[in-house]
Amino acid sequence: MKNVFCIGELLIDFVAEKQGSNLSKATDFTKKAGGAPANVASAIAKLGGKSFFIGCVGKDPFGTFLINTLTEGQVDVTLAQRSDTFTTLAFVSLTADGERDFVFSRGADKELTHDHRLKNLFKNQIVHFGAATSFLGGSLEEAYTLYLQEAIAHNSFISFDPNFRADLWKGTEAIFVQKCIPFIEKSHLCKFSMEEAQLLSGKENLEEACTFLHNLGSKIITVTLGGEGTYLSTPTVKKIIPSIKVSPIDTTGAGDAFIGCLLKQIALTTNLDTLMAHPGPLENMVQQANKAGAITTTNYGAIESLPTQEQLNQL
Ligand code: ATP
Repeated sequence: MKNVFCIGELLIDFVAEKQGSNLSKATDFTKKAGGAPANVASAIAKLGGKSFFIGCVGKDPFGTFLINTLTEGQVDVTLAQRSDTFTTLAFVSLTADGERDFVFSRGADKELTHDHRLKNLFKNQIVHFGAATSFLGGSLEEAYTLYLQEAIAHNSFISFDPNFRADLWKGTEAIFVQKCIPFIEKSHLCKFSMEEAQLLSGKENLEEACTFLHNLGSKIITVTLGGEGTYLSTPTVKKIIPSIKVSPIDTTGAGDAFIGCLLKQIALTTNLDTLMAHPGPLENMVQQANKAGAITTTNYGAIESLPTQEQLNQL
């Protein structure tokens, strides 16, 4: 089984206790571990895969809590870094329609530095780039580019989830698109939401958007469509794989559970060149990943709601 290296942010989500109000009204918050790449690493580990988290947290008690949370979840944190800057904090509230209202105070996540000793670890392994904050400056942004180059040089299977956050890129969406392009060009697998596929391609129509993104370089594309399922686009397969019917209460982390489950299955694939040439088995893998996403929506929180392999098998 291949190792999966997940690079990006790990932060504290302070989640408003009272559902259905926005942050301006919220008074009580619960502390949770968050950050998309950290969720993905946790999803893989919970399903029995081997994942590493590469990111930076503060040397403060919040950083300790985050590192402990990943460690308890069997994620390998030996490559994580800690800095003197405070741990990044996000404040999140679920509004009445189930959407997220959030603001964040950026700290240590931006200080991830490139560690050239890691490059040999990437050899023939899987490297997942999925940070929502990776293109917001700091040494993290530079490290991201250098790790991409190392992943390419070491024949890694490269996975990319842009994790676009509209609040962070108001009026500068075109810059975000430009920064994503080198990752789309080099990725074997891209995971987009519908909004991201449209933004990155400039096309409204899903099939046209995927054609555009394939032409940039991405070989396998999954577009997650919430309760409708996932659109899988490869050179030979273009179809929606329907989701599993559940009663969702919190969709936080569904996308991360989805891509984590998909990467865990890819990590078990002995010959990735064969999978790239004949992507038929991906349909079944996406079906499994849809289950992981669906289960995650049936509980509050991200890491707490991730499924075990047993739960997937039972569904
Ligand atoms: P995130 O907001 O965590 O980044 P996302 O927008 O990338 O998530 P979603 O489309 O919300 O991802 O969910 C990912 C996958 O989880 C979907 O493709 C689907 O398989 C499953 N899923 C999400 N919502 C539901 C739902 N309401 N019912 C069933 N399955 C769901």
